[in-house]
Amino acid sequence: MEVLKFGGTSVGSAERMKSVAGLINNPGKKIVVLSAMSGTTDWLVKISNALLKQETENAVKLINELEPRYRKTVEELYSTKEYIHKGNELITEHFNFLLSFTRDMFTPNEEKTILAEGELLSTALVQYYLEEQKVSSVLLPALNFMRIDNEGEPDLPYIEEHLKKELAKHPHINLFITQGYICRNPFGQVDNLKRGGSDYTASLVGAAIYATEVQIWTDIDGMHNNDPRYVQGTYPIAELSFDEAAELAYFGAKILHPACILPAQKRKIPVRLLNTMQPEAKGTLISQASQGHDIKAVAAKDNITVIKIKSARMLLAYGFLRSVFEVFERYKTPIDMITTSEVAISLTIDETIHIDHILEELKNFGTVEIEMNQTIICIVGDFLAEKHGYALRIFDAMKDIPIRMISYGGSTNNISVLIHGDDKKKALIALNEGVFKKVKS
Ligand code: ADP
Ligand code: ASP
Ligand code: MG
Repeated sequence: MEVLKFGGTSVGSAERMKSVAGLINNPGKKIVVLSAMSGTTDWLVKISNALLKQETENAVKLINELEPRYRKTVEELYSTKEYIHKGNELITEHFNFLLSFTRDMFTPNEEKTILAEGELLSTALVQYYLEEQKVSSVLLPALNFMRIDNEGEPDLPYIEEHLKKELAKHPHINLFITQGYICRNPFGQVDNLKRGGSDYTASLVGAAIYATEVQIWTDIDGMHNNDPRYVQGTYPIAELSFDEAAELAYFGAKILHPACILPAQKRKIPVRLLNTMQPEAKGTLISQASQGHDIKAVAAKDNITVIKIKSARMLLAYGFLRSVFEVFERYKTPIDMITTSEVAISLTIDETIHIDHILEELKNFGTVEIEMNQTIICIVGDFLAEKHGYALRIFDAMKDIPIRMISYGGSTNNISVLIHGDDKKKALIALNEGVFKKVKS
């Protein structure tokens, strides 16, 4: 069984939904994970922000502005009166539900229920389309099997057990449609896997059913060697190892949710990145094997905060690093990069919700400095220990950019460099010129 995930652009209009139906209507058992139509989740965020600020009129206005797009999709998607009617009833039901929040007290818990509407709508629309086309398929409600635990992490054993139960209800069906992104928390409330989370759903579903392959269909022909939003002339990479892809996703390659490689990797399920607009393109295959020993790609992670702790107590002392790390552990704040000297330690974090408490505690160790708006440039490839010259090529390319931290040697496939956020675009372009043009030629 395969898992195919289609992102927001891939289901962004009636025309795109019809293309998706064409791509999934073929023999072979599969689960199809769909995102919300592009722009919808952003819009739902705006609606719930307005409700949280008790700007009821604005919330009503925003809801009413979203509705016509869905009415238009219904008009263009279905060809029979029966399904145009069914589609319109579906839209009325969901938009009435959204409007119901403008009449009551709105609590932050309800925000997640609003954010779930995008995927609930897109999957129901596509399922109706398949029904109208007489394609045999079943809509599996993700809220019946996708679940996170108390730590906010996916609960794979629960997902496995409940997804199996759902599938067992339809032994003769080959095509299943389900919602990406949405799930329930341990209290049974609607929750989600964070923005871009449909990729994560696909990988979790793939792991849960031991899929033969997970395909992530999007609006670009695979993982590119550099961020195409900032750099011209990027190209797709044919093959990546799980470790390489996971690093790129975690360090900012938007094509994949930061955590989405891990479940597939755990069960050795290949992940293929494909382009809905160009289905014949080869895309990127992510699997156990790594091809070629060279610099393969770069990605950038923004909004990084760097913390420097200077302390004479660190000199020739042991146990100091542990005490520092314990502070971050207490506040469940992951550390990305770290460099140390005899008397100082610099580290970076992405999550700053608990920053005030963390700084307060770190001050017990010495002087603490903090700088926001930093960017980690992550350079990924197969840097085997016996190879040499990579660092020279990277730093030669970046010679005009002030570098704040370097992490080299932590793994054989990642070199990370911390720079100021304002230098990001320049750094990505410089690496393209200095590293990849030479690789290609
Ligand atoms: P979807 O809605 O299908 O999930 P996303 O917008 O989340 O799609 O991800 C696809 C986008 O990721 C591309 O359009 C591209 O602009 C961006 N992107 C950023 N870095 C990369 C990269 N290294 N390779 C490919 N795409 C990238
Ligand atoms: N619709 C969600 C988002 O926009 C999830 C996704 O598209 O992957 O973040
Ligand atoms: Mg995405």
